[in-house]
Amino acid sequence: MGFVKTRDISREIRERCGVFAVVGHPKASELCYYGLYALQHRGQESAGIAVLNGGRIQTKKGMGLVADVFTKDDIVRLRGGSALAHVRYSNVGDEGGIEDAQPISVKMWQGQMAFAHNGNLINAPRLRARLEQDGSIFQTTSDCEVIPHLMAKSGLNDPVKALIKSLSDVRGAYSLCVLTSKGVIAAKDPHGVRPLCLGKLDGAYIICSETCALDAVGAEFIREIDPGEVVFIEEAEHPGSDVGRAKPPVSCYIDGARGKRGMDLCVFEFIYFARPDSDLYGINVHAARKALGRRLAQKDSLSADLVMGIPDSSLSAATGYAEEAGIPYEMGIVKNRYIGRTFIAPTQPLRELGVKIKINPLRKVVSGKRVVMVDDSMVRGTTSKYLVGLLKAAGAKEVHVRISSPPYRFPCFYGIDTSSSGELIAAEKTQEQIRELIGADSLAFLDVEDLEEILGRRAGNLCTACFTGKYPIPLEGEYR
Ligand code: AMP
Repeated sequence: MGFVKTRDISREIRERCGVFAVVGHPKASELCYYGLYALQHRGQESAGIAVLNGGRIQTKKGMGLVADVFTKDDIVRLRGGSALAHVRYSNVGDEGGIEDAQPISVKMWQGQMAFAHNGNLINAPRLRARLEQDGSIFQTTSDCEVIPHLMAKSGLNDPVKALIKSLSDVRGAYSLCVLTSKGVIAAKDPHGVRPLCLGKLDGAYIICSETCALDAVGAEFIREIDPGEVVFIEEAEHPGSDVGRAKPPVSCYIDGARGKRGMDLCVFEFIYFARPDSDLYGINVHAARKALGRRLAQKDSLSADLVMGIPDSSLSAATGYAEEAGIPYEMGIVKNRYIGRTFIAPTQPLRELGVKIKINPLRKVVSGKRVVMVDDSMVRGTTSKYLVGLLKAAGAKEVHVRISSPPYRFPCFYGIDTSSSGELIAAEKTQEQIRELIGADSLAFLDVEDLEEILGRRAGNLCTACFTGKYPIPLEGEYR
């Protein structure tokens, strides 16, 4: 009898990747370790830290959660003043595996470097095919690996110049960090789809995906990296010490990006990806989600006994809904937070007995009640269908599903692994058909205009391609 490993029920579609880099701190690898802990929600498949010590880069990577990958000894051994760290969830088409774990460390004629990114390079297949025909030998299936190959062929000795030249060939969404023998280069794509921000701690600089990681290490937020911006932070030479102080960041722009005003930050960062205690462009994610929940309630005229969220990502929206509707907020289900990747799924006979290890409803709370179940998004409808069934089996009289985002109709090619519209429940079904399929008593979504009104006004342009099909970065090849 074989045990089957499964992912969390809401994990079949995948979010991807968090990056965290430090320049000029004697405890750079320790900061990376805690920074990765704070970014664990952005990827649980692999984790890695690369450190720069005496011009050489040393890397430790492994599969699984940050806590599984690094021992205390690893962190002590990874000595150096600058470091780059990454947590990953696998890309579209990736086989995954340790060889795709980042940072990807390479020895090029310009020197040793390590690369880590969050996003998806949509022309990577074409670039890779061209590079391979020219003789490049790839070590991973990661789209990120085209960047060192382009840099190696750039003819430019200076890594910053070589990176800028290479990025002008790359299309897609990326927030990228490169550890070089001098420090860290960070770059955000000209549309600014994925987040990346700059912070400071004791004279050291930190670049990371979300502000919650700055908080985790006690660093001060300085600013967001601009769309199209390339920032280089050098670790100064320090005679007598192997850790130099960080020099002030120097910025330049990817070709054509300078002066581009707007941006297209992924709206799903607000809806689902980012941690509620992070701020994106000055907007707190929890506050944003709460406002979306309030808007759902403003458009509703439902009488119900309680409002509940789905731990953890929809709890902010559910509290917003409850406050606005004046309906008590309750805990309708409990999620077991200690189920890691190595969880062994129950065997079929146990499954048939209804073993609820991951999620269990609070029978006494929901039994006989008219329940409003708020979730942040509906992609394939799997989660809603499962939970409506669970709540009804626990005795809920009515279950009204409210989604604090619009119907997800179009695949994302910029970093969310929903690559085919066949998987998306709202792509072909009407709202009534979806309601019936998930077994809810009623169903409502937000409109794109609601998102734009609540988030867009302050955040600038948002990428809403998954709801509208309007892709800000032109698609090509297999992604079209
Ligand atoms: P689905 O079950 O396919 O309808 O997906 C929606 C559910 O998964 C919601 O409960 C979301 O909180 C969660 N979710 C949304 N986007 C993602 C993602 N990219 N990765 C994992 N879970 C997600």
